[in-house]
Amino acid sequence: MSAEELISRIAEVAFVVLAAITVARAFRNHRIVKVHTAAFFVLIAAIMLIGWARDLELIAEDELKATALTQMLLVAIPYPLLRLAGDFTGVSRLVRHSAEAALLLSWIGLIAFHPEELPGWFVIFVVVYFVGTVTYASAQFVQAAATMRSVSRLRMSFAAAGSLAIAAVIFLAGLRTFFESPVFGAISAALVVVAGFAYYLGFAMPGWFRRAVHANHLQRFLAKTVAAAPGVYREGGGLEEIESAVADALGTPDARIVLWNEETEQFFAPSEEEQRVVHNPRSTVGYRVIQTQEPYFTENAAADDPENPEAYEGPWGRLVMLAAPITLDGRRFGLLTAFGGLPPFIHDDDLSLLQIMANQIAVILRDRELLREVTEARAREETMRLMDDFFAAVAHDLKTPLTTILGQGQRLQRQARRQQPLDPEAVESIVQQAVHMRRLVEDLLDDARDRGQYSGERVPSDLLTIAEDVVRQAPAGKHDISVSGDRVVVPVDAERIRQVLTNLVENAVKYSPDGGPISVGVRDRTDCAEITVTDEGIGVPPADIETIFERFSRGSREPDRRFSGLGLGLYTCRRIVEEHGGRIEVESRLGAGSTFTVHLPVANEAANSGEVGYAQTGGGN
Ligand code: ADP
Repeated sequence: MSAEELISRIAEVAFVVLAAITVARAFRNHRIVKVHTAAFFVLIAAIMLIGWARDLELIAEDELKATALTQMLLVAIPYPLLRLAGDFTGVSRLVRHSAEAALLLSWIGLIAFHPEELPGWFVIFVVVYFVGTVTYASAQFVQAAATMRSVSRLRMSFAAAGSLAIAAVIFLAGLRTFFESPVFGAISAALVVVAGFAYYLGFAMPGWFRRAVHANHLQRFLAKTVAAAPGVYREGGGLEEIESAVADALGTPDARIVLWNEETEQFFAPSEEEQRVVHNPRSTVGYRVIQTQEPYFTENAAADDPENPEAYEGPWGRLVMLAAPITLDGRRFGLLTAFGGLPPFIHDDDLSLLQIMANQIAVILRDRELLREVTEARAREETMRLMDDFFAAVAHDLKTPLTTILGQGQRLQRQARRQQPLDPEAVESIVQQAVHMRRLVEDLLDDARDRGQYSGERVPSDLLTIAEDVVRQAPAGKHDISVSGDRVVVPVDAERIRQVLTNLVENAVKYSPDGGPISVGVRDRTDCAEITVTDEGIGVPPADIETIFERFSRGSREPDRRFSGLGLGLYTCRRIVEEHGGRIEVESRLGAGSTFTVHLPVANEAANSGEVGYAQTGGGN
C-alpha cells in the first residue's frame, strides 16, 4: 500500500467514525447545529462507503449509478457547511437560496448527463458553485473567529481551518489536471484528514477537549476573581469585573449576576438602578433555575417564558441564555447568566463551566456577607464603647459641681438651723456651680439638636458689656481675670455670644491649674470685631490645634483625668460663631498658654436677609 493510499484509508475511516459520532449526538440533542454537523459528515462518509463497496467489488467498478450518486453526494458537501456558517454567524437569504438553486441544478445535470461524459461548461458551473460556497463559508468562519472570544473563538478557528483545508484540496485537484504527481495525492489525502478533525473539533468538540479548554479558561477566571475580590468586598463594590470575567471565559457577549431575596422571593440587580419589571416573576427562566437549582440552557429565552417576553428584549434578537444557580450550603445567593444572540455563541456544553464559576461566585458572595456582618458587629461594639465613655464623662462632669452644691447647701442648712448668718460665699459657690451645670446641660442639648440653630435673633449688642458680665460671673478661684478693650456694638444673639465667652473663660480657668492671669480683650478691627481670651496655662499640643473644635474632641488630653470634660465646649463655640458669619481660632504654646480669638463680622452677613448691617463703635473707656 502506498503512502497516499494509507493516508486516504485513515481519512476514510476517520470520516466514517466522525459521522457515526455526530449522528448519535444529533439524535441525543436535536439542536439544529448538531443536525447540520451530522449531515456534513454523513455526506462525506457515504462517499467513502461507496468507495469501499467498489473496492470490495460489492458494486461493479464501472457501475454508472454509483458514480452518479458519488458525484451527487460530493456536490452537496458545501451546503451543510454553508448552513453551519449560517448557524454560527448568520448568512443572508439570497446567498442561501442561490446555493440551494445551484445545488439543485448540479443534481439535475448529474442525473441528465452521462457521469463520465459531463459537458465542460457544466463542470465549470459545478466547480464555481462548489468553490464559491466553500470559500464563502470559510470567510464567515474566519470573520466569526476574529470577533469571538474564548471557547467560541476556538470553535470558529477550527471551523475556519477545516474550510481552508478543503479549499486547499480543491486547489490541488485543479493543479493535478495540469501536473500529475503522487505527492499531490498524498497531500490532498492528509488535508482531508486535517479538515475532518478540524470540523469535528469546531462543530462537535469532544468532551475531553472541551474540558481541557474549560480548565484553561477556568484558571483565568479564578485569577481574575481573586484580583477582583477586594473590590467586591468594599462597601458599594460592584460585581462588574466578575461578570466580565465570566463572559470572557465563555466567550459570550454578556454575563450578569442577579441576586435573590429569599424573603420577597424576587431578584434584584447588585449595582445598576435599572430593574427589569416583569409581568409574572414566577414564570421567568431565572425563577425556574432558582427553584430547581439546576443549570439551564435555552436557545430562545422569550419562547421559554411567553408571559414575560419583554424581559429578554435586547440588541440580540432571539436571546440565547445559559443560567446557573449561585448557591452555597443551601443559601441561595442568586443567579449567574451568560447570554447573547446567535445560538452557537454559547453551547449547552458550557453549562458545566458556568456552574463551576457560579459556585466560585457563591464563595465570594458568602465571604462578602460575612465581612459585612463582622464590620457591623465591630461598629456596634465601637458605638457601645463610645456611649459608655460618654456617659462616664457626663456623670463625672455633673458629679463635681453637684458635690460642691451639696456640700455648700448642707453648710447653709446647718447655719440656718443654728440661726447663724448665712455665708455669702457658700451661696455664691452654689450659684456658680449651678450655672456651670446648666451650661453643661445646655451644651448637651445643643448637641442633641445638632441640626438645630446655634443662633437666634440678632440685635445690636455691646461685646465689651457681655465680656464684663461673663468675667464677673466666672469661677475665678486662684486666677486673676481682667477685661479690656473697645466698646464694639455688633448684631449678635447676645445669649449665644455670652455662652461662647463663658466657655472660653471657663476653659482658660480649667486648663491653668496653677493659676495665673487670664485676660479678655475686645477690639474693633474695622472689618470685624475681635474677642480674645488669653491664659498662661498648659497650652494646646500642636497636633491638637486642628481637632479641638470638632465634636467630642478632647485632643491628646482625653486620658488626662485631671481635666474632666466632654469635648463639646469648643465645638459649640465654633458652631455659634460660624452661624454668626465669623470664625474662631487658637494660638498656643505648650506649657506657656493659649489665646483663643473670635472674629465676628460687624455687618450682619450671616443673616442672609440682604439688610445692610451696621457697626457702632465707641472709644475705649
Ligand atoms: P472639654 O474642655 O470638655 O474637653 P472643649 O471642647 O471645651 O472640651 O475643649 C476641647 C479640648 O481643647 C480640651 O479637652 C483641651 O484639650 C483643649 N483646650 C480647650 N481650651 C484650652 C485651653 N485654654 N488651654 C489648653 N487646652 C485647651
